Parts: sequence; structure tokens; C-alpha cells
Amino acid sequence: MRKKIIAGNWKMNKTLDEAAVLATEIRSHVMHSGHAHLVTILAPPFPYISELAHHCADTSGLELAAQNCHTETQGAFTGEVSAQMISSCGASFVLVGHSERRLYFQEDAEILRKKINQAYACGLTPIYCIGETWEQRSTGKHFETVAQQLRESLFHLTPDFFASHLLPILAYEPVWAIGTGNTATTEQAQEMHAFIRQELQQNWNTDLANACSILYGGSCNASNASDLFACQDIDGGLIGGASLKATDFQHIRQAMLEVLA
Ligand code: PEP
Repeated sequence: MRKKIIAGNWKMNKTLDEAAVLATEIRSHVMHSGHAHLVTILAPPFPYISELAHHCADTSGLELAAQNCHTETQGAFTGEVSAQMISSCGASFVLVGHSERRLYFQEDAEILRKKINQAYACGLTPIYCIGETWEQRSTGKHFETVAQQLRESLFHLTPDFFASHLLPILAYEPVWAIGTGNTATTEQAQEMHAFIRQELQQNWNTDLANACSILYGGSCNASNASDLFACQDIDGGLIGGASLKATDFQHIRQAMLEVLA
């Protein structure tokens, strides 16, 4: 059975003290309501990773992610953070290709391919975010867009590679749903998740496609999580706004725990 994952992307929010309080509350929820197949991932801002790694240490089912990494391991890149640094601070995952990075920081397919390679080279598992804009969907280009994002930045990795590396986590995040309250319908989300799995099957193989966790992200909250997570190909959520309050995030975790029950 593939892993179910609830990941919180805190973006550029919280002070260190606030982040520590939030992580402590979530840790307590994870300790009291865990499941062998459920992994909870927190993606705080870079400066908090090390501190939160101490808060979350030895909590089974609770992991940390960075929100980004640089394409190089080290060097004269003032202001940047490498995957090696992230790994040394205690995170195991890194978001790659979030639509805010693609849009505001001009991260293109080649940069994202390098970031995925760099993550793996430094022992991190990438959470690769893909998804179409509203314009692409309304002109019928949503499948083509997502297929291209997979082809250009991920499918250079072959099944052989995954004999010695963990599969990436994929996050389908329609850009028009992120932070807007316009959640994709369960039909739209399931249809795209099934398409993504079919692409994985065609480019890799059936076993890898069936083992890969595909998360939905985009205005997922306590009210719509149960319906989304009940879909066959939706293996969890990448949660933005609703991950900033421990009770909201716990309701979303609970929705997945009910699916697993
Ligand atoms: C995100 O930014 O990854 C996200 C899913 O945000 P939100 O849940 O706020 O739409």
C-alpha cells in the first residue's frame, strides 16, 4: 500500500516562536493519532528547520521538508540554501516546483530538473509540484501541461534509479486553486491524478506508478478533505493556508485517518 501523506507548506509565515508552538501542537496530534501508513510532513521556512528538527525528533510519522533548494551543492550563491544544508539541518524532503517558485522566481523546467537531481544527490526526497493555470485548463491544455512538467523535469530519472532511491512524492496543485478558495472538484482532481499515474506507468512501469504517492493541493481544508481523500488516486494533501492552524491541520489529518480506518 502506498503511503498517505499530509504535508503542510507554511510558506513565508510565522516567527520562530510561533513556528515552535505550531510544530509542538502538531507533534502532539501525530503522537496521539498516528497510523503506520500516514506520514505528516511540515515545510517551515528555512531558518526554522534545524530548531523544529529537535522538536520533531523521534516522532514516528512526522517529517520535515524545506520549501525550496538551490541547484548547486555549495559555492558563491549569496542568499541561497543548498539541499546539502537542508539535509544537515534534519529535513528529509524538499518541495520542488511550487507554482509560486515557478511564477515569482522564474523557475523553469531545466532549473527544476537540476533541483530534483540535487535533492536526490544530497539524500532528500523531492516533493515535485505540478499543475496548470486557469488559462491552460480553460483552453483544454491541462493534461498536456502536466505531462510536459513531468517529462521535462522528472522523467529523465529511470526505473533503475529507483532501485536505490526513494520515489518522489508528486503534488498536483492546480494554480487556480492555490490560496483562492476555488478547490478543484473531486472529479477534476481524481481525473488528473489518474492521468498522472498513467503517465508514471507509461514512462516508468506499473509497480512504480502504483507505489508513488500523489497529493492534491489547492484550497484543501477541513470541509473538503474527506471527499478528496476518498478518491482512488489521491494519496493525501499539500496544504497551504489550512496548515497554519494546528486544529485545522489536525482535522485534515483526521480525514485521512478515517480513510485509513
Ligand atoms: C500551496 O501553496 O501549496 C497550497 C496548497 O496552498 P493553499 O492550501 O492555501 O491553497
